[in-house]
Amino acid sequence: MPIRILPPEVASRIAAGEVVERPASVVKELIENSLDAGADEIRIEVREGGRRLIRVHDNGSGIPAGEARLAFERHATSKLANADDLESITTLGFRGEALASIASVAQVTLLTRHAAEQVGAQVRVEGGRLVGQEAKGSPPGAVVTVENLFYNMPARLKFLRQPATESGHIADTVQRFAIAFPERRFNLVSDSRLVFQSTGNGRLYDVLVKVWGLESARQLAPVGQEDAENGAHTVDRGMAAPSHGADAAPRVHGYAGLPSLSRSNRNHILLFLNRRPIQDRSLSFAVSEAYRNRLMVGRYPVAVLMIEIDPALVDVNVHPAKAEVRFREERAVFRAVQKAVHATLAQHAPIPEVRSEGLSWSMPGWAERRQALLATGQNWQPSLALAGDRSPVTGNQWTAAPDDGAEEQQWRSERAPAAPHPLPEPVATEPDSGDSETSPPVPNPQSTNVLPMLRVVGQMGATYIVAEGSEGMYLVDQHAAHERILFEQMLGQQTAGGVAQQALLEPLAFEANSSYTGLLNEYAGALAAAGFALEPFGRDAWLVRAVPAVFGRVDPRRALEETLEGIADGHDLVGESKEAALVAVICKRAAIKGGQVLSLDEMRQLVRQLEACRNPGSCPHGRPTMLMLSRMQLEKEFGRRG
Ligand code: ADP
Ligand code: MG
Repeated sequence: MPIRILPPEVASRIAAGEVVERPASVVKELIENSLDAGADEIRIEVREGGRRLIRVHDNGSGIPAGEARLAFERHATSKLANADDLESITTLGFRGEALASIASVAQVTLLTRHAAEQVGAQVRVEGGRLVGQEAKGSPPGAVVTVENLFYNMPARLKFLRQPATESGHIADTVQRFAIAFPERRFNLVSDSRLVFQSTGNGRLYDVLVKVWGLESARQLAPVGQEDAENGAHTVDRGMAAPSHGADAAPRVHGYAGLPSLSRSNRNHILLFLNRRPIQDRSLSFAVSEAYRNRLMVGRYPVAVLMIEIDPALVDVNVHPAKAEVRFREERAVFRAVQKAVHATLAQHAPIPEVRSEGLSWSMPGWAERRQALLATGQNWQPSLALAGDRSPVTGNQWTAAPDDGAEEQQWRSERAPAAPHPLPEPVATEPDSGDSETSPPVPNPQSTNVLPMLRVVGQMGATYIVAEGSEGMYLVDQHAAHERILFEQMLGQQTAGGVAQQALLEPLAFEANSSYTGLLNEYAGALAAAGFALEPFGRDAWLVRAVPAVFGRVDPRRALEETLEGIADGHDLVGESKEAALVAVICKRAAIKGGQVLSLDEMRQLVRQLEACRNPGSCPHGRPTMLMLSRMQLEKEFGRRG
C-alpha cells in the first residue's frame, strides 16, 4: 500500500499524545517500522544513551523514492486504508505519526531504497523542517538516523537521565522486540560496544538466554507449549496469525520463572499481545497472583507471556505510545493468562514455598517468633467482657505481643534526656529540614534528637509501628523508617572511612545482562564506595567479593541485581552525588519491608535508631516515616474537649 495522508475523519480517531518521551521511545518506533517493513535483520546503534545519535538499519521493503518525503508528514501511513482498518490492526504502527513526531524534536536523516527500485533516496528533516532531499545509492531497506534528540527543546533535554540509564531503557526496548520476534536478528551497539545480539533462529528460549543469561534461563519453565522438553518454541514469521476463529479463546504461551527466580518489582513480567509488547496492570496482577504463596511478600515473578487473540477482539488504539491495549473480553484474557501460568507452576513447582529471608538486621529465632506472634494474634479476640470489666484496653492486648515493660524501662532510663523534646508538628507534612540529604550525619553523642522518646505499643498490619510519645500517638512506617536509618548510617560510614562490608566466603561470578554492563561501569566508583567489591571477570562478567553489610542475609547475587535494577529504574536515585544516590537505592532495597511481622524488641530497636537520626521525619526519598495524632486532637475527636 502506498503512503497516504489519513483523511481527517480517520486521523481524528487516533489516540493522540506524546510519542517521543525519551530516546528509548524513538528506538521503539523505529524498530516497529522495520518490523512492519518485513526486515529480518535490524541493527540499532546509539551514542550517549541515544541523546547524540540513534540509528536503526534494516533490510526491509524500503520506501519508494517518491514517497520518502511523505513519510515525515503527520498521519502519513501505508498501513491504514480507511477507518475500518482501525478495528483490526495487524501491524505495529498504524497512525503515521512516529516519523513526524521524531523529526520535530531532532535532526533526522532517512536513507532508503525500495526493493523494486534502482536508486535510493535520502531525506533530511530538522526540527520538522525539510532541509535536504536527494537521490542516493543505498542497499535495499532503510536507515533512519536521529541526531541530537530534543536539541530544540532544552526543557525536555533536562529531563533525560544519565546516558547509562537511557541506554538501559534502550536495551530493554530492543530486548523486548527480540523476545517478541525470535525469528529476526537484532543487534544493539551502544557507544561502539556490542551490547546485545539475538541470532534470529526462531527459538524464544535462546533469546531469553541472551537477555537474562543462562543461569536465569535455566529457572524458566515453558508455559502453554507442547514441545516443553527442549524449551524450543519456534514461531511463524509474521504478525498476528491466530489459528483460531474470532470467538476462540485467547492462546497463551511463553515462559514463567520458577519461584527461585524472583525480582523486586513487576518489571520482569513481560507481556506481548499478538507480538506487540504491552503493559497491562491487570494482566501483570494475574501473573503475580498465580505465584501467591510461592513468593515472599515484595517479590515478583519473572515471566514472558505471548497472548494471541483475534485482532478484532482488541483495541490497540488507546494509548499514544501504543503500550496499552483494551480487550473486548478482558476477563477471558485474565483467566487464560492465570490458568496457563498456574498449569506451569503446578507441573514445575508443585510445593508452594514461603521463603523467609530478608530481615536484614535479622535476629536469631525470628521465624519462630513470627509464628508465635501470629498464633497469639489469632487467639486474641475482643470480648464483650472487656467493656464490662472496665479494664483499659492497653496496647499489649491489641498488639498481641507480650510486653515485659522492665527492659523498656531500663533502656529508657539509660538514655532519657531531662525533658522530652517536642516534635515539630505535624511530622507528616514537615518538609525535610534544610539539611541536604547528602550531608553526612555528624556523630553526636548528645544526639540531636528531633524526635521525642517513643514507647512502642505494637504493630499494625505488619507494616506500621504504633508508638506513644509525650505529644500523642505515632504511626511509624517500618520500611521508610528503616530506610532512613540505614541511609544515615551508611553515609556516616562513608565519611568515616568506609562502609561496612560483608565478604563472601567464595567470590560469586556475576554475569551481567547487557543493560547492566553499562551501569556497572558507570557506577563502578559509587558501587565500591557503597561496599560492593567487584572485579572485572572477562566480558560482561564480574567477580563479587563483598557486598554492603546492610544486606544482611540477602543472597549477594540478589543484592547486586536489585541495586542495579534500582539504578536502571532511576526513580530511587536521589541525592546530590552519585555515591549518595546509590546509597539511597541500596537502603531502599535492604530495608525491612512492609508486611513483615516484627517482635517488640525489633520495633524498639528500630524506633531507638530512628530517634538518633538527623532527619527522622522522612525516608531518603522524601516519604514521611511517621504520622502523629496529637493528644489534643484525640481529645477533640472523643469529645473530651470542645
Ligand atoms: P506508521 O508506522 O504508523 O505508518 P510512521 O511515521 O512510523 O507511521 O511511518 C510512516 C510510513 O513510513 C510508514 O507507514 C511506512 O510506509 C514508512 N516507513 C517508515 N519506516 C520505514 C522502514 N523502516 N521501512 C519501510 N517503510 C518505512
Ligand atoms: Mg511507525
